[in-house]
Amino acid sequence: MTRRIEERCQDCGSTEIIHDAVAEWDVEKQRYVLIDTQDGCNCNSDLCNGAECHVDIHDADTGEQLGRAPHSFTYVPKSEADAAWADYAAQQEADRAERDRVRQQEQTIHQNAEALAAAHQEITS
Ligand SMILES: [Zn+2]
Repeated sequence: MTRRIEERCQDCGSTEIIHDAVAEWDVEKQRYVLIDTQDGCNCNSDLCNGAECHVDIHDADTGEQLGRAPHSFTYVPKSEADAAWADYAAQQEADRAERDRVRQQEQTIHQNAEALAAAHQEITS
């Protein structure tokens, strides 16, 4: 079953969210057809009164807050998405640390080779 998604204003929790969009005229349907929506949005609740807003994503049926894991377009419970992002960040950090370790090791090897070459030249000259 496809999960039904609901956007809620982060400031007031309202679902009265509107987005700017791009539409084109469809001659056959005799109406505009939605092409794309913009990321930016406004909240039309009485509290926010049309102010720019940021939204949280919720399951429209259960109300559960949702999120997306790295490299995924699928919404999952926010706790799962947050855990996946934490794992992703930890893996990125581990990869970065490994690259730094390898770079440092290569630098040490290079320095040792230069020191050996200099010592060899000193001994043989
Ligand atoms: Zn609002």
